[in-house]
Amino acid sequence: MTQLFVYAFLLIAVMAANRSRLLTTSGMIAAFFTGLFVNLGFGLKGLFLLVLFFISSSLWSKIKNTNKQQAEEMLVKGSTRDWQQVLANGGVAAFTSALYYITADPIWIIGFCILIACSNSDTWASEIGSMSKRRPYNIRTFKKAERGTSGAVSPLGTFASIVGSFIIALTGYILFELNLSEMIFITIFGFLGNVIDTLLGAYVQAGYLCANCGLKTEKTFHCGHQTRLIKGYSFINNDFVNFFAGFLSLLIGLWIIKM
Ligand SMILES: [Zn+2]
Repeated sequence: MTQLFVYAFLLIAVMAANRSRLLTTSGMIAAFFTGLFVNLGFGLKGLFLLVLFFISSSLWSKIKNTNKQQAEEMLVKGSTRDWQQVLANGGVAAFTSALYYITADPIWIIGFCILIACSNSDTWASEIGSMSKRRPYNIRTFKKAERGTSGAVSPLGTFASIVGSFIIALTGYILFELNLSEMIFITIFGFLGNVIDTLLGAYVQAGYLCANCGLKTEKTFHCGHQTRLIKGYSFINNDFVNFFAGFLSLLIGLWIIKM
């Protein structure tokens, strides 16, 4: 009976997110199924952590300034998440929930928290970092970079990234009654996910140039023309990088726990 309320809550939550343009229709469906899987293993505690990430990240994305608007012109997707963005962040998290449901091994609680911490860390870094007054540096060339570009780092973004990871670790610590070292562990690996994300963004993620206006962008189309690939690999987009960064951080984290 109570489960019925959880399903109803999930349905209302994703529909509300769709109405307020936080999720596209495909994103809404993906978020609903992610929620079902997370509920399966981790119940309301897992859903709470997921909702905390989603709401806090969405709030930051609604706060804009001129620096950020400039940055967003270069990104493929806006702040309305589609199914690929939802699954890049939530797919593996849903999988850890299913594994916890099957095995009851508490290691998957840590894994789940690491993944949500990675997503939160990455989103906070880009949403807050792109509001920075000072221009960021490219992590590969150490030259000044454009705000919001993949591979760009700033002190503000890095600070936001650590706090974003810590908030999830702290909430996980309270909800799942973890110990202090586990909380620190989650904070570190959430932040590591963002570092991996930034490195992949700088080295392998696709970057394009608009021949018409000279804009360097992640978009394959600009000013009504096809843009030209100038860095990375065309199949490695931001969603792929998000997914892979979280997955790699999770693997390294679990490997260290098992050592
Ligand atoms: Zn253009």
